[in-house]
Amino acid sequence: MKGGEFLIKEQLANDVFVPEELNEEQLMFRSMAIDFIEAKIWPNIAKIDKQLENPDMVPNLLEEIGDLGMLGAGVPEQYGGMGVDFNTETVLSEELGKALSFGVAVAAHTGIGTLPILYFGTQEQKDKYLPDLASGKLKASYCLTEPNSGSDALAAKTKAVLDGEHWVLNGQKMWITNAGFADLYIVFAQVDGDKFTGFVVERDTPGLTLGDEEVKLGIKGSSTRQVFFENVRIPKDNLLGEIGKGHKIAFNVLNIGRFKLCAMVMGGCKKAIDIATNYANERHQFGQAISGFGAIKHKLAEMAIQTFATDSATYRVADLITDKIEELKKEGLSKEEAKLKAAEEYSVECAILKVLGSEALDFVIDEAVQIFGGTGYSEEYPVARMYRDARINRIFEGTNEINRMLAVGQLMKKAMKGQLDIMTPAMKIQEELMEIPSFDDEEEDGPFYAEKNAIKNAKKAILLAAGAAAQKYMMELEKQQEILMNLADMVIDVFTAESAILRTEKMINLNGEASAELQILMSKTYLSDALERVHMSGKHAICGFAEGDELRMMLIGVKRFTKYEPFNTIAARQAVADKMIEANKYPY
Ligand SMILES: Cc1cc2nc3c(=O)[nH]c(=O)nc-3n(C[C@H](O)[C@H](O)[C@H](O)COP(=O)(O)OP(=O)(O)OC[C@H]3O[C@@H](n4cnc5c(N)ncnc54)[C@H](O)[C@@H]3O)c2cc1C
Repeated sequence: MKGGEFLIKEQLANDVFVPEELNEEQLMFRSMAIDFIEAKIWPNIAKIDKQLENPDMVPNLLEEIGDLGMLGAGVPEQYGGMGVDFNTETVLSEELGKALSFGVAVAAHTGIGTLPILYFGTQEQKDKYLPDLASGKLKASYCLTEPNSGSDALAAKTKAVLDGEHWVLNGQKMWITNAGFADLYIVFAQVDGDKFTGFVVERDTPGLTLGDEEVKLGIKGSSTRQVFFENVRIPKDNLLGEIGKGHKIAFNVLNIGRFKLCAMVMGGCKKAIDIATNYANERHQFGQAISGFGAIKHKLAEMAIQTFATDSATYRVADLITDKIEELKKEGLSKEEAKLKAAEEYSVECAILKVLGSEALDFVIDEAVQIFGGTGYSEEYPVARMYRDARINRIFEGTNEINRMLAVGQLMKKAMKGQLDIMTPAMKIQEELMEIPSFDDEEEDGPFYAEKNAIKNAKKAILLAAGAAAQKYMMELEKQQEILMNLADMVIDVFTAESAILRTEKMINLNGEASAELQILMSKTYLSDALERVHMSGKHAICGFAEGDELRMMLIGVKRFTKYEPFNTIAARQAVADKMIEANKYPY
């Protein structure tokens, strides 16, 4: 399955990786991370947030987790790392997502801070920096954003001029995570005015200064500062990659960053659900635990359903990336080159996950606050902090608007390049619409027949809307943002619903239907709601550009392609919640 191909192809359940298949080594990494976070982070969570009073706390904890090998998990053994596979890295990210601000510090260090050197550094740069980055002796940050260039990152104004054996940097970066204690700064600057280029800058270089800690809405324990460069002279050899190719570093590293952000927020969802379920069981009103009320059960179940679906999509993509890495290694690429290319291949899926996960977390934590009632609003309880901390995820690693446009834009680009044939099936669907629908064309076959058919049809709804929009606007489609946003929502919903269905089918294949009874209910409920949303987004998109008979025909098509037999979602959610209440946590 190539990147983006999910839109026109069906993936078989047995070809999908599910978290239930994690092996012993991966589970061992998971419990190591859980132990660290439970012992070192949660008891100190308030202290970590008061970073001005405890400035050494996060850097010291980074060194401690580095000693356990977790900062170097994805770094090859030759540079002092553990060189674990991508699925194991995903497990680690998931657990680190439960560490709130500290998780952000780890992610910035191991991801955008370390990967540019691992993927684009010279051999000397790798030998010099990677072992200490893997151990946590050196801490890293990534300086892309500037006061006047955020989403439009390539418009950066920071300059680099070659002066003999040195590059001289002048400019200003903003919102730099880990800036307060970093030893290394990955910096992007323009050479000759417009050649966007990466550099490695060491902390003690004269002319590098920091702004004050930003006073933020959340992730208060994460250091975020401005970084100023005033005639900062760095050795010529600290150029990272090639002159004018900084965008390759900046954007490729972000593909992996977006994927991992989703794994992390999904961990955050599970933590919030554990806490909320426990509270709902303990809090009594009207003579009973509030977890017994239908309104609360609905909340708990929906929190779990969205988390389950996000979990399914995350591990599905993790494994696609893992397989691609192996395939590329067999073709002769180094592991690092393979990983980079694999993430690039699945850039559409990474953008989808980033939006999906960050919005799932905001939903889940908002409901957790609601379940806590007044105590949810109190700093004495954990959910207020989690609520504030969650919000950043829709902003960094590319805002969700930018990622929505990226997801659809990349699909369209692949289609234009001939890598993904979207237009042939889109035209066929238009023809299909002219035919009288047949209701007995296919024999019902196998579990999830109706659900898989619904997914197949929902993909037709996307192709119908996207194909017609592309025909109408051609190259101008990228300017039709409202239509792109609707198409992106359709794509995200369908990819996620399909992931939940495939995971459940695989679970049935692995352990029998009885073992997946509640997962069946969760997948069907997610799908049922997703199809309603797909219908709505499709309608909005089509009404935005079609008229007359064409409009009427397409509206009928979108409605037909998002049909799903109604079922008792109230009973389904009750069953899902009852299991959570009994387990007193997220049990899926
Ligand atoms: C706590 C925190 C930590 C961060 N850490 C780092 C870091 O370590 N390194 C780093 O380099 N950066 C970091 N950032 C910066 C972050 O990546 C940017 O804030 C983000 O990319 C958005 O840029 P911006 O803030 O300039 O918003 P803008 O780009 O000004 O966007 C404002 C709004 O306009 C929308 N928008 C912008 N362009 C378009 C468009 N073309 N079409 C439609 N809508 C658009 C956006 O989606 C957003 O809703 C961090 C930010 C924060 C808050």
